[in-house]
Amino acid sequence: MIPVSEPLVTAREVELVLDCLKSGWISSAGKYLERFENEWATYCGMKHGIAVSNGTTALQIAVRLLDLKPRDEVIMPTFTIISCAQAITYCNGVPVLIDSDPHNWQMDVSQIESKITTRTRAIMPVHIYGHPADMDPILEIAQKHGLSIIEDAAEVHGAEYAGRRCGGLGDISVFSFYANKLITTGEGGMVLTNRDDLAEQARSLRNLCFQKSRRFFHDELGYNFRLTNIQAALGVAQLERMEQIVDRKRAIAHVYNELLKDVPGIELPVEEPWAKNVYWVYGIIVKENTGMNALDFAQKLALKGIETRPFFLGMHEQPVFHKMGLFVDEKYPVAERLARQGLYIPAGLTIRESEIEQVCEAIRDILTNH
Ligand SMILES: *Cc1c(COP(=O)(O)O)cnc(C)c1O
Repeated sequence: MIPVSEPLVTAREVELVLDCLKSGWISSAGKYLERFENEWATYCGMKHGIAVSNGTTALQIAVRLLDLKPRDEVIMPTFTIISCAQAITYCNGVPVLIDSDPHNWQMDVSQIESKITTRTRAIMPVHIYGHPADMDPILEIAQKHGLSIIEDAAEVHGAEYAGRRCGGLGDISVFSFYANKLITTGEGGMVLTNRDDLAEQARSLRNLCFQKSRRFFHDELGYNFRLTNIQAALGVAQLERMEQIVDRKRAIAHVYNELLKDVPGIELPVEEPWAKNVYWVYGIIVKENTGMNALDFAQKLALKGIETRPFFLGMHEQPVFHKMGLFVDEKYPVAERLARQGLYIPAGLTIRESEIEQVCEAIRDILTNH
């Protein structure tokens, strides 16, 4: 099987992790944690970085920082991972969904304003699959209506919107460093913000809201969402290669673009003129006129030794939310099409050119002989 993604771990990661182990700083304090937080925040153009246990918990902290009242609303795309919506519902808020743009698969910004009510408190754009959401209109709408922005940048390490780095565009942004993301700490995440007060609150929430002046004294409920110095050491080593990693991901995508551009029956990922796409994954859409959906196509590719992953299933199609009385009978046709017809193909950092060619050969073969 050609795997859809494999992490690339080098001798440098081993060196820094070993250094950490030998120093005894193996828990949630230490020089690698500080370095990782500072270096990642700086890379994204933000003042503060608060490392946490994963991207899902980063979102939970980010939404807690909004201080929602029950039934307050947060606007977000339906086409994303459940972590976004559940972070809102955990805080007794209501996710309000937006369909996707059919061309770039990002949140359709033209639909946002019609969803704003007196209860709307924030917009949560999610940059999907390595490509930025169309941020300027989102920032403008937020400004006009006094809304906060939580940027979910878990899939866009190093991507840019109109020359500005993703993860540095909102009031609060979140990242994941899961093993399949552009850089990884195994499991890990981070909350970024420019605001001193929010950063302090996020640090407190991450660590059970211990009061600084009086240990074991609490006036808020927090979480244990701490990241370890060992994980941060892994992250620091990965971050040293950030530029190479982004270049490699883009190079892989360019090879695919070239080899697949004339293949009928599929749509390829795009890069808008205002975007620098880091192609976290390489997603393709199988057109309906092939008579196949993504599942059929994935099965055929699996028979040829090629692993794939399906696209997200929209939040409005999730039984768990229907049980909570959310999104019942709501329809988002673009996201539904992406879920039915979309899948992503092997494009991890360890893939070889010959494997990319093999994948393209298999795709062409299936589409011409079905
Ligand atoms: C991966 C991801 C997350 C969650 O990160 P974990 O570290 O897996 O919890 C959140 N949002 C998006 C858009 C993601 O792709």
